[in-house]
Amino acid sequence: MGKKISIIGSGFAGLAAAASCAKNGHDVTVYEKNHHIGGRARQFKAEGFVFDMGPSWYWMPEVFEDFYNQFGHTASDFYQLDRLSPSYRVYFGKDDFVDIPSSLDEIYQLVETIEKGAAVQLRKFLKEAEYKYNVGMKEFVFKPGLSVLEFMDIRLMMSAFRLNMFQSISAHIRQHFKNPKLIQILEFPVLFLGAKPSETPAMYSLMNYADWNLGTWYPQGGMYKIIEAMESICLEQGVRIETDTNVKQILTKNKLVSAISINQKEIESDILIASADYHHVEQHLLEEKYRNYTEKYWDSRQLSPSCMIFYVGVKKRLANLLHHTLFFDTDFDKHLTEIYDTKVWPSNPLFYVCAPSKTDDSVAPEGCENLFLLIPVAVDLDDKEETRQHYFDLLLDRIEHITGENVKEHVVYHRSFAHHDYKTDYNGYKGNAFGLANTLNQTAILKPSLRNKHLKNLFFAGQLTTPGPGVPPSLISGQVVAAQIEKEFGHKR
Ligand SMILES: Cc1cc2nc3c(=O)[nH]c(=O)nc-3n(C[C@H](O)[C@H](O)[C@H](O)COP(=O)(O)OP(=O)(O)OC[C@H]3O[C@@H](n4cnc5c(N)ncnc54)[C@H](O)[C@@H]3O)c2cc1C
Repeated sequence: MGKKISIIGSGFAGLAAAASCAKNGHDVTVYEKNHHIGGRARQFKAEGFVFDMGPSWYWMPEVFEDFYNQFGHTASDFYQLDRLSPSYRVYFGKDDFVDIPSSLDEIYQLVETIEKGAAVQLRKFLKEAEYKYNVGMKEFVFKPGLSVLEFMDIRLMMSAFRLNMFQSISAHIRQHFKNPKLIQILEFPVLFLGAKPSETPAMYSLMNYADWNLGTWYPQGGMYKIIEAMESICLEQGVRIETDTNVKQILTKNKLVSAISINQKEIESDILIASADYHHVEQHLLEEKYRNYTEKYWDSRQLSPSCMIFYVGVKKRLANLLHHTLFFDTDFDKHLTEIYDTKVWPSNPLFYVCAPSKTDDSVAPEGCENLFLLIPVAVDLDDKEETRQHYFDLLLDRIEHITGENVKEHVVYHRSFAHHDYKTDYNGYKGNAFGLANTLNQTAILKPSLRNKHLKNLFFAGQLTTPGPGVPPSLISGQVVAAQIEKEFGHKR
């Protein structure tokens, strides 16, 4: 018999850890406080619309495929995966936009029209980005980040230089390109990483490779299909998933986790994996003497932004939006300063619109558009109802102005989601949406550790530990923790 493993949280990290641990022969139960599984990637239905609540960009399809393959599956067992073409649109102003083609040859042609000589530069840039992707996503991300020795392999050390760890992506992009629009387009994927491009290591141009070489995909039925696929795999592997179970406390005995407390019941565990927000687990569920980090440490961490989101049902088709549309028609740098430096509500934000109904008839009633509007904002702001209404009106005005289409009078449903909801729904520290920023001093062994240093059967997974935020990294995080448990406890079975 394997170990009895309890997992807190049913996001990508928790489900990936559960499936992998169960495959290794352990007896696994996932405890989720919410009524639905999926964490930040939950879905809800209203008025005939089906809204994905969090992630909408399906990038790095091989990460998903590799995960499914380990269980004898392939993505097509669970959903139809379509490559979007064009991948997305970027608006710089009224009647001023760029559609990013799905074919690399067309991308080279496009950039050449924006800046003379850019195609040659882009080939060079993406060649380096490919190397970074191969080393970063195939080797570095699978390291548990517990010791610097993991990176002492001479080939990996050499890679650290080629990976451009010590230059910022902002400087790296500017070495190759001059046109401000092209620079903004290339800096866009970095926004996923939660820090200003000037503070993000150039290693993360691997995101540009993921974007332009590997493409933007969509699982028919919505991103929640990935969660459903992972749930099916978990169930096949014998995992039990219990929803509406809020873990209230981690109990210890003889310097080990002995049990977790749920609804006044104690559930004994040999091993605990906490995939809920790390700060919540340590500061609220664990006795102070067993915590890895102090409140002061957490306060000193740079968090990725929070988001103000609107899920909107529109009784009209909107011709001038694509599946993914970025509104970069305002001052990019000013908005970044408001997120990361002054930490105030943005005066005139850039924002993102996802309209999955462009690709998928199942997410909106006939003749309607399903919209997800997202503004990245500083963490820990007070998201009063008037503030939400202000931004909702502002975004609709901007969409109407830029796309030249009436939207407001056709809105039949809307719901907002911001800081307060991240705190109450996911116990998200400071209402963060994407976890910790990927800055140099929050990379690899400098991230919050995946294991507790006092209790050797307590592990962490998810977007606040290695390898970091985003769907592919969270999914990998669950697999990394399962491999670490196998290494430490597997042979004792
Ligand atoms: C709006 C938004 C858009 C995003 N867009 C993208 C995108 O397009 N592409 C991309 O790759 N990534 C995207 N991301 C990031 C990605 O969604 C996350 O990194 C990922 O979902 C995090 O997964 P996780 O398992 O670490 O955490 P979570 O999904 O937060 O899972 C943790 C779970 O723990 C549960 N929990 C918390 N406390 C307790 C408790 N005490 N007891 C029991 N359960 C508890 C929570 O309810 C939650 O279900 C986006 C995120 C957001 C918020």
